[in-house]
Amino acid sequence: MISVPKNVMVVGNELAIVWDDGREDYLPLERLRRDCPCAMCKGEPDLFGKIYRGPDRPLTPRSVQVAAHRWVGSYALQIDWADGHNDGIYSFETLRRMGAEG
Ligand SMILES: [Zn+2]
Repeated sequence: MISVPKNVMVVGNELAIVWDDGREDYLPLERLRRDCPCAMCKGEPDLFGKIYRGPDRPLTPRSVQVAAHRWVGSYALQIDWADGHNDGIYSFETLRRMGAEG
């Protein structure tokens, strides 16, 4: 069964997640931003398997600040970064895995 967050909040420079099974994870915002799962950040393979992605842009302090976050359906979290980027949808599974990796 997939765990779902009971509560998500930004604490300092970390995203604090309290899971429904009682586990708590603290994920550094910079790490979340660097692991942004959107196509532009992660790249998307074309028919031939070549990965296309947007140009690497240096992260600014605003790139690792959370302006807002919201649920996407019942399976993921969307983060609005303060620099305007919000294409990344972080599935609960992904967040769980990042938390387990420590
Ligand atoms: Zn992205």
